[in-house]
Amino acid sequence: MKTRRAKEVYTLADLRDWPKATVEVTPPVQLGVLGDPVAHSLSPPMQNAALDHCDLRMQYGRFHIRPNELEDALDLVRTLEFIGVNLTVPHKVEACSLVDELDADAREIGAVNTIAVRAGRLLGFNTDGIGFARAVRSEFSVDLHDLRILLLGAGGAARAIAMQCARADCERLVIVNRDPGKARDLVAQLQPALTGPRVLGPVARLEAVPWDERALKFQIDHTDLVINATSLGLNPHDPPVLPATLLQPHLMVYDAVYSRHRTPLVAAAREAGARAADGLSMLLHQGACAFEIWFEREAPLDVMRAALTK
Ligand code: NDP
Repeated sequence: MKTRRAKEVYTLADLRDWPKATVEVTPPVQLGVLGDPVAHSLSPPMQNAALDHCDLRMQYGRFHIRPNELEDALDLVRTLEFIGVNLTVPHKVEACSLVDELDADAREIGAVNTIAVRAGRLLGFNTDGIGFARAVRSEFSVDLHDLRILLLGAGGAARAIAMQCARADCERLVIVNRDPGKARDLVAQLQPALTGPRVLGPVARLEAVPWDERALKFQIDHTDLVINATSLGLNPHDPPVLPATLLQPHLMVYDAVYSRHRTPLVAAAREAGARAADGLSMLLHQGACAFEIWFEREAPLDVMRAALTK
């Protein structure tokens, strides 16, 4: 059967007039990612490669949906013939109150990155945490359990990562965020899961610290893995996530931001002699888990990885 590819980006107006917006598009668009910005998302090529490989006759599209449009967009997804959607910046937290049901992980994390539409109901899941853990294992051959971790960010992705670190009973976890109140709230939520002393020395096992160079310098001396889960680096004009002087050779640096080229943080970390990886591996693993939720079958990981590195 002939294929007529989906438009590069759809909008809420397109969803409102879906038959017209997708006239002659074949196979139909029944999955997609909703975000703002969304043009950078590599989920469409990755998921479309998986759909093709598995002979699932549908396409995965890209939807530019602004924050005040999310509720309407999800209402339309519920009624049109969608299998599900992914959510990216800045919708993951807001989506929690817009779905009909939350699975246990999404509820605990307080963010949804995957929605499955079943019998007209929106079921919310979160695959970022498990995707992150698999990514760290594949990039650095280490387990979160053994690491002292400095996490930058307290938004949807950071919350998923923090919960995963706590679940893995990591050695220590320090959270830093531009809005320090959010970092403190996240620490308070994680407190019951990360009790008991595991590290020796003058450092707490779990704490929120201010985003200032002196505090970060002290923490980095007691850190194995630095994670950037802020949106810094997404925009080419963003300032550096960390000053180069803080990046040291003993570190592993995981930048949840991804691009087809090396992210500025990954480049700076490698320049400093550290091991570093960008968020493509997290994208791959969270996407594979989402595929498995939608289709209840194993995702073709190698095909999806190849689509990301093309
Ligand atoms: P959210 O909008 O939920 O959170 C954004 C975070 O970035 C907040 O902690 C926010 O801090 C911080 N931030 C934003 N602007 C700045 C700034 N100028 N300076 C410092 N901090 C800033 O987004 P998500 O958590 O969903 O996504 C965060 C990043 O992670 C994105 O780049 C996204 O692409 C990436 N990501 C990658 C995935 C992957 O598979 N590789 C999966 C999920 C996310 P504050 O609270 O102070 O506003």
